[in-house]
Amino acid sequence: MDAAREAEPQEFDRVLSSMCTEPHPVARDAAERFLATNPGDPGTYPQVARLERRAISLLGDVAGLEAPAGYVASGGTEANIQAVRIARDRADSRRPNVVMPDSGHFSLRKAADVLGVDLRVVPLDDERRADLEAVRRAVDADTALVVGVAGSTEYGRVDPIPELAAIARESGALCHVDAAWGGFVLPFTDYDWSFADAPVDTMAIDPHKMGQAAVPAGGLLVREAALLDELAVDTPYLESTSQATLTGTRSGAGVASAVAAMEELWPDGYAAQYERSMANATWLAGELASRGFAVVEPTLPLVAAAVPAPLFDALREEGWRISRTAAGELRIVCMPHVTRASLESFVVDLDRLRGREHVPLVGGE
Ligand SMILES: *Cc1c(COP(=O)(O)O)cnc(C)c1O
Repeated sequence: MDAAREAEPQEFDRVLSSMCTEPHPVARDAAERFLATNPGDPGTYPQVARLERRAISLLGDVAGLEAPAGYVASGGTEANIQAVRIARDRADSRRPNVVMPDSGHFSLRKAADVLGVDLRVVPLDDERRADLEAVRRAVDADTALVVGVAGSTEYGRVDPIPELAAIARESGALCHVDAAWGGFVLPFTDYDWSFADAPVDTMAIDPHKMGQAAVPAGGLLVREAALLDELAVDTPYLESTSQATLTGTRSGAGVASAVAAMEELWPDGYAAQYERSMANATWLAGELASRGFAVVEPTLPLVAAAVPAPLFDALREEGWRISRTAAGELRIVCMPHVTRASLESFVVDLDRLRGREHVPLVGGE
């Protein structure tokens, strides 16, 4: 009866599959304080509207954009849908298409479906990044958007963003970078992924993933404010006159917690977290490889390894929250809540279960 009151929220210590994490304490506090505000109605809730402008300015710092425009979305899904919407509405074509690599997030399939654009999915190269030749072949006069992924969901790969942006430019299309997960770790790597590295037009970058903000806090950034105008609709009953978001009423908690997390952690806290997460991923990859599992080398803090299905299932029964890639590999995301200690106990369980289950050493999926 009092289910919500009695249930304990789940702990994070065995969660190895999530792209979200425990919010930073300052982010949790800010979320609670702004829970009852609605940035969708900025005339009535001006404080949270101001915080949202601050959030966009901070996201601009993270993503290398000097005069950023955008808003705090419900997540990467909304940001991706809106990026496709901007490109579609800006295109002259009557049958606009979007070109994306096979590693593109499924939210872009939703976007194509909702917005009625053709999605052209192109294959990856041997490093699981967008194959540039395939992208060039797929792009034509009807292409409204070329998508690059900076931190792919399955393997953490970063597409060649400057090259993709150049292809988009040449064909008169926009370029969108999906950095929903990777955006808060990539500033500390050598990858070219940001607005500062390439003429990227729009970006998805989520504070509620590596940014350690509370859900819901996604980010849509656009290079020029004019691109956001493509989304604006009139809002007759609100004090403000137009709205660019997909949602109407939305949570001020996400906005406030995003600001709190970024003010606390950008850049040093995020840099230190990146180092810890990457060291954990490298360590785990080494442990799995030394046991004979085929490991996909982590380039961002995400490890995939071929583990036999019975062993995978046995680990799940131990309470480990783990997920699979489309190819069936074990996939572990080294989020901030994933400590070395928890990975060590995961490996201890793995060794014990391997012995007990008599499972073959090398996974074959
Ligand atoms: C998680 C993710 C998304 C979707 O974001 P949500 O916040 O879950 O809506 C989109 N793209 C990438 C690369 C992601 O990792």
